[in-house]
Amino acid sequence: MRFDLISLFPEFVAQCAAFGVVGRAGERGLLSVHGWNPRDYAEGNYRRVDDRPFGGGPGMVMMIDPLRACLADVRAADPTPAHVVYMSPQGAPLTQAKVRELAAHPRLVLLCGRYEGVDERFLQAEVDEEISIGDYVLSGGELAAAVVLDAVARLQEGALNDAESAVQDSFEDGLLDCPHYTRPVEHALGNVPPVLLSGNHAEIAKWRRQQSLGRTWLRRPDLLDEATLSKADRKLLETFRAAWAAAGHVSDPAETGVAHQVAPEAKSTASEVAPAAKAAQAAPGSTEPPPAG
Ligand code: SAM
Repeated sequence: MRFDLISLFPEFVAQCAAFGVVGRAGERGLLSVHGWNPRDYAEGNYRRVDDRPFGGGPGMVMMIDPLRACLADVRAADPTPAHVVYMSPQGAPLTQAKVRELAAHPRLVLLCGRYEGVDERFLQAEVDEEISIGDYVLSGGELAAAVVLDAVARLQEGALNDAESAVQDSFEDGLLDCPHYTRPVEHALGNVPPVLLSGNHAEIAKWRRQQSLGRTWLRRPDLLDEATLSKADRKLLETFRAAWAAAGHVSDPAETGVAHQVAPEAKSTASEVAPAAKAAQAAPGSTEPPPAG
């Protein structure tokens, strides 16, 4: 897959293509990242790429012509048709489903705005879609483009060492991921839940599914409204919720706004407290993990 990033800070682009999964995917020939600077296409001694907004007001606006000339060169650099995305707080929210959609394109052009943004006429004429990475305003589109690049790159076949890990991630099946543990088994901060050491793959899968459902209920109940749950899923969630209530917690933690708080103290061991419940614990006192059945 080919990425072309149009940015006034090409060094930034080079950096975000150099590390981790994106860097490795590049080394494996799974993707290539190319930076383009609209300033190289600007005219005059000052190579100006921005000007004052018509109608007055603060800030500057990125001009059409340098961007247009730059994009023409970007398109001409490779015969693969390009899907052009403008990173914008006004765009469609970036979700895992959107990431998958983007990953299906053979070539993405990510346009990074600066200042007040880009002349609207350029956007209307040249851009296929606008994408936002969240309801906040960054000073430039580079970080947003880096987020898209990273999320799309790790979905390229062969980019991850274990392809299964992407399938199990949060949002892939509409739910949050289950909690994870590694060595040591016993620790002052808690013990690994025994089921994970049992070697019983069916029980482990059931436990993970229940934690995933419970964690989603605790932290992102909005996702549950959209998720397709089987009869078995509903039963697992019901058991989780019953255990949560039996442990003395409020019946709907999301309503109290405590669902994302880290447990106030880490004295109880992980095997004593339901992991997903523990992360959302409002008050100490939960002592029983919900049974997986
Ligand atoms: N005036 C613009 C608005 O309110 O819609 C914001 C301009 S912002 C200061 C400068 C650039 O940062 C934008 O052109 C865009 O490329 C990028 N940007 C800012 N917030 C973003 C977000 N949440 N997602 C994606 N890109 C963003």
